[in-house]
Amino acid sequence: MRNIVLFGPPGAGKGTQSSKLISKYQLIHLSTGDLLRSEISAGTALGLEAKGLMDKGLLVPDEVVIGMIAAKLDANTNAAGFIFDGFPRTHAQAAALDALLEEKHTNIQVMLSLEVSNEELMKRLLLRGKDSGRADDQNPEIIGKRIEEYNAKTKPVAAYYQAQGKLKNIPGMGSVDEIFDALCIAING
Ligand code: ADP
Repeated sequence: MRNIVLFGPPGAGKGTQSSKLISKYQLIHLSTGDLLRSEISAGTALGLEAKGLMDKGLLVPDEVVIGMIAAKLDANTNAAGFIFDGFPRTHAQAAALDALLEEKHTNIQVMLSLEVSNEELMKRLLLRGKDSGRADDQNPEIIGKRIEEYNAKTKPVAAYYQAQGKLKNIPGMGSVDEIFDALCIAING
């Protein structure tokens, strides 16, 4: 199995690059942000709880996202591999993911970390907010809170994978195709 963590701050381009990577490598895309938004659209209790936090730019509790990922891993036992997008976002999530994959006799091959300046992130997110209507992308204060959460809780997750020799930093500025090529080289190398 080829399991990849696509890492980076909100607006780094994880979603865009994931869709190109899944078609090239036949992987299953697991985005906790997308899974949470589906719960919100379906009006579930979990979705309602998550929405309150997401609208403030805060992370959803670890148990909630770990439970969603565990269910998706169980539902796709024959997959060629997974791309984890927006997960793990905390040290506890990273440790839980390792344990879940170990149960399935597999592991993470590589963490690809997209590096983008804060200024560029803000620009991209506000543009995405206009195009998609996503509430958490429309307000500079909420975006600022998400970047703060990222720096405090998520950025340290890179060190977790670096300690395992799995971290690869990729410049996330440039054309979509240039970034995609750099990601493929990192996966194949
Ligand atoms: P972005 O990468 O632009 O922040 P996402 O769609 O990945 O967008 O996430 C949107 C929101 O969903 C986050 O701000 C957070 O509230 C919640 N969320 C997504 N994934 C996680 C996670 N792994 N742990 C906790 N909260 C999460």
